[in-house]
Amino acid sequence: MPGPTVTFLGGVREIGGNKILVEDGPERILFDFGPSFTPRYDEFYLNYLQPRSTSPIKDLLEFDLIPRVPGLYSREALHGADLEYEAPRIHAVFLTHAHYDHAGYLKYLDPDIPVYLGSDTKVLLDAIQSSGTTSYGSHPWNLLSAPAPVRLGNIEVVPHPVDHSIPGAYGYLVRTSEGTIAYTGDFRKHGPRAGLTESFLEAAAKEEPRAFITEGTRVGPDPRRNFTEDSVRSEVDHVLEATSDLVLGTCYPRDIDRISTLYQAARTAGRSFVVSLKTAFLLTSVAGRPGFPPVPQPGQSPDLLVYGRPKRRYYKWEEPFLEGAVDADYVRANGKRLFLMLEMMHFPELIDLRPPKGSPFVYSMSEPFSEEDLEAEVFQHWLDHFGLRKHSLHASGHCSGPELLAIAHRLQPTTTYPIHTEHPDEFHPKGTHVVSPEKGVAYPVR
Ligand SMILES: [Zn+2]
Repeated sequence: MPGPTVTFLGGVREIGGNKILVEDGPERILFDFGPSFTPRYDEFYLNYLQPRSTSPIKDLLEFDLIPRVPGLYSREALHGADLEYEAPRIHAVFLTHAHYDHAGYLKYLDPDIPVYLGSDTKVLLDAIQSSGTTSYGSHPWNLLSAPAPVRLGNIEVVPHPVDHSIPGAYGYLVRTSEGTIAYTGDFRKHGPRAGLTESFLEAAAKEEPRAFITEGTRVGPDPRRNFTEDSVRSEVDHVLEATSDLVLGTCYPRDIDRISTLYQAARTAGRSFVVSLKTAFLLTSVAGRPGFPPVPQPGQSPDLLVYGRPKRRYYKWEEPFLEGAVDADYVRANGKRLFLMLEMMHFPELIDLRPPKGSPFVYSMSEPFSEEDLEAEVFQHWLDHFGLRKHSLHASGHCSGPELLAIAHRLQPTTTYPIHTEHPDEFHPKGTHVVSPEKGVAYPVR
């Protein structure tokens, strides 16, 4: 019988879209299953231009945006595709975390394939699904209790929580018949849960891994400043101290650490923090749940308000937050005492909010990957129109290039595979053989 192999079906020379197949004898296990952020998916499908719900796999296969793997997809998703339905030939899918580029294709899986994930990740997927248009499908969900190993035939998977820009992120040690594969998922060393990353790396080093599969988001050109969560906090403190006008801001909708950081900064500055209905729902969904840091809770935490954006009809999940929600009139009258979060898609609210010219806008997300980013241009047009001053203050969810070099050097794996990066060829750690993987090639673990 051939020895264990690892095959990269996505995340190859692209950010996101990790789909890693580990095979050992009859066992076939997939790690992560989402679309890539840049550049492939967006080259064909953008905003409302999306695969048809009646034939999604056909529409994704057309542009090689999803792997052609028999025994993986549901009969329904395969409708119209030139890939025949087969009973499952993949035995499990393990998720590292709830970001869309890792979990977004789950809905296409055969519903009999079990999905393994942290209970915290499951809480997040449920919250995202209940308050938006994203669906993850129904599966046999298996909740991990790290670091208890999961055995599937020849393969043993050991989950380890790591720090990332969303709670509930995991790295995995995958023990095969020829040695261990260490897979980082997305991770960082400079966030509030840096200790988790360190424990994972310690455990990984002990295994003397044969293969090290590392994310490399920030490998290569990386113009971003290496803020920590604490330095974001102190910079935001400065912005809040320096103005007596309304302060606006935006961050990734699931970056719970950042939401907490900005909330604390608002309180220290004697301001109330104003969140969207969706953020209010998310905070309520995760508050007090195992695996989550303490979060401000709408209706309970002091100095926390909800902005009730006017709509013709509200969803059921929005209703509990409408009582006591504030509106544009309130924000205009009390702007000096508020720090209001506003997602770009809700920018038309600015037409009613009329922030004073020169008001600060805290942009707490990563800068666009490309310079010709249309969304970034539109964003700037709105800021210019209303005379808002942008402050880019963000701590990345990813390790820096130099940090990754040190980690690869420390683990001393036989082979290192950089994925989830546009620049795998620029990763040269000392003392380990680096392979910039090709999509679909089965690399032996040895
Ligand atoms: Zn991520």
